[in-house]
Amino acid sequence: MNLTVAGCGPAGLIAAISAAQGCPGLDVLVLEREAEPLRWMNDPRNPPALTRADDDADAFAAACPNGGEFMRGACMAFPPSQMALWLREAGIRCQTMPDASLRPLPGLAAQRLSICLLEAAKMAGVRIVTGNALVEMSASTEGFRLWTKNGPSLDADYVLLATGGRSGQLGWALATQFGHMPRKWVPSPVLLCTNDHRAKVSAPLEVPGARAWLPELDAEAGGGVTLHPNGIGGRAVLELTARHSAALAELGHTTMLEINWAAHLTQGQPTRILREIQQSHARKTVVEDPVMDLPVKLWERLLADMKLPPDSRWSALSPAKLQALAGQIVSTRIKTDGRAMNKAEWVASGGVPLEELAQDSLQSLRQRGLYMAGEMLDIDALPGGWNLHCAWATGWMAGNAVADAARARIG
Ligand SMILES: Cc1cc2nc3c(=O)[nH]c(=O)nc-3n(C[C@H](O)[C@H](O)[C@H](O)COP(=O)(O)OP(=O)(O)OC[C@H]3O[C@@H](n4cnc5c(N)ncnc54)[C@H](O)[C@@H]3O)c2cc1C
Repeated sequence: MNLTVAGCGPAGLIAAISAAQGCPGLDVLVLEREAEPLRWMNDPRNPPALTRADDDADAFAAACPNGGEFMRGACMAFPPSQMALWLREAGIRCQTMPDASLRPLPGLAAQRLSICLLEAAKMAGVRIVTGNALVEMSASTEGFRLWTKNGPSLDADYVLLATGGRSGQLGWALATQFGHMPRKWVPSPVLLCTNDHRAKVSAPLEVPGARAWLPELDAEAGGGVTLHPNGIGGRAVLELTARHSAALAELGHTTMLEINWAAHLTQGQPTRILREIQQSHARKTVVEDPVMDLPVKLWERLLADMKLPPDSRWSALSPAKLQALAGQIVSTRIKTDGRAMNKAEWVASGGVPLEELAQDSLQSLRQRGLYMAGEMLDIDALPGGWNLHCAWATGWMAGNAVADAARARIG
């Protein structure tokens, strides 16, 4: 009895390990297109958020713009704490971050993350063939026949597609062959590009207290805005672009973005603060005196946009100018004109609809013996460990379901 898993990403890997451990008589093979799978995880500057630090299933559901209810159940079946334990056993020590995500401890261990994961698969008896893609498959009552890019062709009793979102177009095409109808792929979350001079920076500029609003979609999010050289990001923008990926893609990511740089303040407070500063710092130039914790560079731009001469003093600001300045701070309107990739955490939305799969096993309702997991599925989750946990949890579910089915057949 054998299982072939297509894709050695987080979902495919954990699915293969779960299947092999759950049914020792099952021969498990992983086919991976790339020569070095999971390498992106080893980036020392950007250790990935591997999972969450708590098992709050409600919070998990809320962090999934799509597939939240399903993930509530999946998170209870395979909670983040179980994943954390699993990672520890694989030699990956993690730390809890301020945003309650779990990331590998910096240092050598983090840079060997992919090696630890692949080693865990080897220990479970999983065979991994890299540099060879699954390109075609057919099914009969006997099982599956699979064709690989570089040969040979294979037979399999079970097939598990875990080819991802960003790179998994072929996996979706294979699923289509069996009657599945994957929803259109869109990258999410992304950075929003703009030509607005106020947002142009040569190095990232972070405003942790900022909130962002997309009036056209009537959607807003907090958690900070970061101006990057290639676009506007930060938690608030990433959350908006994740939750509204399809609508934004339809707009070509061309829309109005309104930013409140001082979202921690209540309505009317910015004007009052500016008035107080005007009285206490009357003789100082406005530009040398950033307010409300705004970064100097941003403050300079907001002032330049109001056409205030650089030597303007607080005392010279008319009430109308003061009001306009407060308006700039709480509502900078920026026209966006496209997207750039958020390289730190690359997430896609779209995929095979959950309704086309058995909810407890992720077995296809169209083709017996065919399973799917990970970003292949139409589940979206925010970055920060939720997204990756979706891959682990669905991989774990599908892998265990294959093991159960195989055990029942082996007897
Ligand atoms: C740089 C980077 C950083 C990220 N950081 C985070 C983070 O910190 N937290 C978070 O939650 N999420 C993060 N993500 C997103 C996360 O990686 C994905 O959500 C997750 O990897 C999805 O897992 P998957 O196994 O479903 O798909 P993938 O990871 O995409 O794996 C699919 C695998 O299948 C292979 N494949 C595709 N087609 C075939 C085929 N026909 N035959 C054989 N193999 C095939 C691909 O080469 C790939 O290795 C990050 C992504 C990137 C790229």
